[in-house]
Amino acid sequence: MARIRKLSDFVANQIAAGEVVERPASIVKELIENSLDAGAHLIKISVDQGGVKRIAVQDDGVGIPADDLRLAVSRFATSKITRAEDLDGVHTMGFRGEALASVASVARLAITSSVSARGAGAILAIEGGTETRFAPAAHPVGTTVSVEDLFFNTPARRKFLKSERTEFGHVNDVVRRLGLAYGDVGFELIRGDRNVERLPAKRGFTMRVENLLGPDFLTQSKPVDAKTDGMHLHGWVGLPTYTRSQSRHQYFFVNGRSVKDLLVGHAVRQAYRDVMFHGRYPVFVLYLDLDPENIDVNVHPTKHEIRFRESRRVHDFVFGSLNRLLSDSRPGKDLAPTSVTLHKSGYSTRGGYQNPMSLSQLVADIKPAVVGLGTHGVSAQNNQSGEIPPLGYALAQLHGIYVLSQNAEGLVVVDMHAAHERITYEKLKADHSAQALARQRLLVPVACDVTPVEADLVEEQAQALSDFGLIIERSGVNSIVIREVPALLADSDIENMVLDLLGELSEVGTSDVIKAKAEELLANMACHASVRANRRLSIPEMNALLREMEITPNAGQCNHGRPTFMVQSLSEFDQLFLRGQ
Ligand code: ADP
Ligand code: MG
Repeated sequence: MARIRKLSDFVANQIAAGEVVERPASIVKELIENSLDAGAHLIKISVDQGGVKRIAVQDDGVGIPADDLRLAVSRFATSKITRAEDLDGVHTMGFRGEALASVASVARLAITSSVSARGAGAILAIEGGTETRFAPAAHPVGTTVSVEDLFFNTPARRKFLKSERTEFGHVNDVVRRLGLAYGDVGFELIRGDRNVERLPAKRGFTMRVENLLGPDFLTQSKPVDAKTDGMHLHGWVGLPTYTRSQSRHQYFFVNGRSVKDLLVGHAVRQAYRDVMFHGRYPVFVLYLDLDPENIDVNVHPTKHEIRFRESRRVHDFVFGSLNRLLSDSRPGKDLAPTSVTLHKSGYSTRGGYQNPMSLSQLVADIKPAVVGLGTHGVSAQNNQSGEIPPLGYALAQLHGIYVLSQNAEGLVVVDMHAAHERITYEKLKADHSAQALARQRLLVPVACDVTPVEADLVEEQAQALSDFGLIIERSGVNSIVIREVPALLADSDIENMVLDLLGELSEVGTSDVIKAKAEELLANMACHASVRANRRLSIPEMNALLREMEITPNAGQCNHGRPTFMVQSLSEFDQLFLRGQ
């Protein structure tokens, strides 16, 4: 082995660049952060060929004195911290003093800057770590950094770059994230010669969010504003009905830094878990502000991850605040304009959940006073307290899919499958967590063929399955017999439900994980049990469904986050028919 030697600065910088400079977007991020640290009000970013050919970031910040330019690009040179203790309370985006030096080692870098209004600035150019130019240059107060031919001297790394479109996509994402974090700073993103993003300065966060996520997001979301000792969470969470198939539209900022933090990510997902499933992603913009002493951003050079000093408390605060907000979407709440209140309609006062109830039982359970009212006008239907329930009284069924009902406001249209699914799920969940899931013995046990792995699972996880209300026995190498099922699901397609469940369990594995995923598994079971389209419901059955929805948490959405009902008010109809105009 060779003798130990100290690496040259150039090699050290290239190694550091391996961490900091992954792709054009990482350079854009470092440069914009420098501009923000310099107090810029307007930042213009232009990129050619996804940033591989050229990146230029121009700002109107404080600028760099000509005498400091060389220092700015040398390693570990920073104006932002001086002592190790400063690391405990970093208020700036940068502090490592590595970015410019790293970029200078893997691309052609030029910095033009001025600190005086008379334009007496300077330019410093460096190629592959070697200075090629240092001269006076005119520039308004502020700085322009340009980076050309990324990885020109490290072809191996160049190979890892993706298509121009992909790289530009990452650049755009960086600009959007920083744009959301700094709502008052102006940003312009120029691709080639096209202006693709123009975010005006000083219009505030709401405008910025509207600019970046579209006006729909604001109407389809709930504002968040929660405070606790030393922490403030604010922003917007999209309603569970406003989802995307990708997680890209999720923004979380901690003290102005966009983070992809596992801990907070988990807290947010948990909060949505009850109201959304199956490959849909919520949209949100959330800001968490807390004392800088309570976080450590120095975990990773790109600072995407941070460490919280009291991680459990942060997690619970985020989860708690969002969970309250999101589960608060029962029908009565969202039908705010009417004076109708929940739980006052005579028959819905039994409160809490009753044990097993299939749709038919559900109907039998309803007090006679209500049954049969559906065919009359609303005025005739008012119960003792004189109030029309939030979801009104059923009028008819449309194409075997929707229940039409009349409430004080106008017409309610309910997706009966979605609604029934939600009701069943909430009952299963409540019973499961109370360990009181009632089972029903099948008159004719159901035999089915499974894979040997699934049959093993039936043996190994007998306890977990019985917690889910299922008594299943193995009857051969690859066959099982289902003997008991949750009473709530007795009418459903049992074979397929169990096969689906086993399929999922074999992926999930251990008992611990099964416990953790219990609600998701229950949701899938509920899906199998719910009324399918084209099932004829009688008016009392429909009314039963409506009343059941009114007392079910989260009844506004099915388990997949789709809405379960909508209301069309009389005045909306009047408008449609141009009445009174
Ligand atoms: P860091 O941001 O961690 O300090 P950098 O390598 O990114 O390290 O920048 C080094 C120094 O150069 C900064 O501390 C700052 O003093 C100066 N600098 C870089 N970019 C700008 C800019 N756009 N405006 C003013 N000063 C800048
Ligand atoms: Mg920096």
